[in-house]
Amino acid sequence: MFNVIFFGPPAAGKGTQAKIIEQKYGLKQLSTGDMLRAQVAEGTELGKQAKAIMDSGKLVSDEIVIGMIADSMDKASKAKGFIFDGFPRTHAQAQALDNMLKERGQQINMVLELQVDDKALLARIEKRAKEEGRSDDTVDAMKVRLEQYRKYSADVLPYYQKQDIVFGIDGMRPVDEVTLQIEAILAEDITA
Ligand code: ADP
Repeated sequence: MFNVIFFGPPAAGKGTQAKIIEQKYGLKQLSTGDMLRAQVAEGTELGKQAKAIMDSGKLVSDEIVIGMIADSMDKASKAKGFIFDGFPRTHAQAQALDNMLKERGQQINMVLELQVDDKALLARIEKRAKEEGRSDDTVDAMKVRLEQYRKYSADVLPYYQKQDIVFGIDGMRPVDEVTLQIEAILAEDITA
């Protein structure tokens, strides 16, 4: 089993890369953002609670996202491992994740940090807003999301840096070149 976290600011390309890597390596992408948007689209009670928070750019509660991740891990028992995308975003989420993996005799093998500068992120969000119309892809929400990112990355990255498993990826390169960087790092470790 191989478990990797894709870490990076909003619009860094985590989802794009996760979809490419999951197919090639038989890993299962677990995106808390996608799960929350699905709940909103279905109009569930959880979705109703989460929508306003997401639209403001703030973080939804640890309890909600940890619960969603736990459910999804239970359902995907056939995967060779997981790509965690957008999770964990707090220290509490990181600890909860470690505990859930430990119960399964697993661990986080690596954290890939996609690095993209703020100017490029804002340009990507503007483009995505036109293409996808996500309700949190507004200038105001984006400011909050970037601020949140700065805060939570300072909280979460050191947790994994202490374990020496964080690798930086230049996310400013074209999509296929980013994939190549990721694969080069995975190749050193993955034994699937
Ligand atoms: P992005 O990475 O582009 O900001 P996501 O799709 O990952 O977008 O997340 C969208 C929103 O969903 C976040 O701004 C936040 O409100 C909520 N969210 C997603 N993952 C988490 C998480 N792990 N903890 C708390 N809130 C989350």
